[in-house]
Amino acid sequence: MMGLDPRRAGDSNATTWIDALDQLHRAGDLLGLPLGEIEMLAMPRRTVEVAVPVRMDDGAIRTFEGFRVQHSLTRGPAKGGLRYSPESDLSETKALAMTMTWKCALVDIPFGGGKGSVRCDPANMSVAELERATRRYASEIMPMIGPGKDILAPDMNTGEREMAWIMDTYQTVHGQSEMACVTGKPVIVGGSAARRSATGVGVAECVRQSCREISFDGPIRCIIAGYGNVGRTVAELLGREEEFRIVGASDLSGGRYDPHGLDLSALAEAADTGEVGSARTGEPVGRSELLEMSTDVLVPAAVGGVIHELNAENLHCRVIVEGANHPTSHAAEVLLGERGVQFVPDLLANSGGVIASYFEWSGGLQGLETLGSEVAARLEARIRQAYDTVVQHSAERNISTRDAAVVIGVDRVARAHRARGLYP
Ligand code: NAD
Repeated sequence: MMGLDPRRAGDSNATTWIDALDQLHRAGDLLGLPLGEIEMLAMPRRTVEVAVPVRMDDGAIRTFEGFRVQHSLTRGPAKGGLRYSPESDLSETKALAMTMTWKCALVDIPFGGGKGSVRCDPANMSVAELERATRRYASEIMPMIGPGKDILAPDMNTGEREMAWIMDTYQTVHGQSEMACVTGKPVIVGGSAARRSATGVGVAECVRQSCREISFDGPIRCIIAGYGNVGRTVAELLGREEEFRIVGASDLSGGRYDPHGLDLSALAEAADTGEVGSARTGEPVGRSELLEMSTDVLVPAAVGGVIHELNAENLHCRVIVEGANHPTSHAAEVLLGERGVQFVPDLLANSGGVIASYFEWSGGLQGLETLGSEVAARLEARIRQAYDTVVQHSAERNISTRDAAVVIGVDRVARAHRARGLYP
């Protein structure tokens, strides 16, 4: 069990934060922002570190470290997930909060960026311990959260259950109903039925958009590397459409490949038990090997860092749509870019979740119901708009789509800062 470790020296994710700062500085330079303005954009508005003491089931008390970072409040309340992980630390939380700022600005929703984490290992905690940890964490950060301040959402190892606990804690403390204090909550307490599939809906729309300008000989072949929530939604949406074929899929158990198309119902059956590698369709291939199989579109939708210098030369795809966060290293992106491979960067491709969260939040504020079908159409329209803006900026400035996405986000936040002025 992971508690406070006094021997731990510094943050292990310092490079993640340095990378995020580098990205901001690159965007700031491209925009010609003065250094003082870049520094102001870099510094999180508020960062809190809290102790989360929890009485464990055996009666012992353990104290976990918790963080909440509000990177930006310029375009609206902070918005971002809460993750539980033994690897979480302040540097990672700050970097993720900054990414949320650019993402919300890129897709033009009225939120700043935030992120929270508790450094714990949920795999080794009971449901009751997790509930006590979640409620205590929520109460420790209570003064800084709320519908107009900072809205939490699920992230790694948290889900609807944790959001319901946080909402309940919030409402108990404030003594009034407040649906919009979290998003990603269960549908029965005001969550959006469309939230679960929203990220996949956005990724699928990015696949469609990225294939618009390319001519293909036959159906457009797609490999979905990571058949979880996001990947499976993408496969099931595109697999229904005449112009697409899902030729490859994988999860932790391994992959399957068929150049003529996999049977999606066989994949679904296998995915339910986390056994895509044994699905009764196509031929077995290793997880890493699948990335190198022939395809038109590759959708990495599992974990970060799967496309790197060592395998980039072996990839056979024309488009990469990044469902996962940070699946491609910078060196690999350069190598693939030189070969004409197009990228839809993660900042844009996986923004569907936060867009749906925006609809859930605004519905909660107004006491409106959100209908699944409406959400998907509105979400796709917003993604298309952001996609076109990214492609246009990338062409006009002769920069990668990844840099273009960050530049658009940074520019919108910087202009909002200027419009509001500096207090006092
Ligand atoms: P998930 O846990 O539902 O699915 C992940 C899938 O990837 C699982 O099937 C797992 O078996 C598989 N997997 C893990 N390692 C793999 C590997 N090396 N090769 C192949 N498959 C592997 O997670 P998810 O919600 O679908 O999220 C997927 C990615 O998208 C994550 O990187 C997440 O950060 C990112 N993302 C998700 C959302 C969202 O709303 N769910 C939003 C933004 C970004």
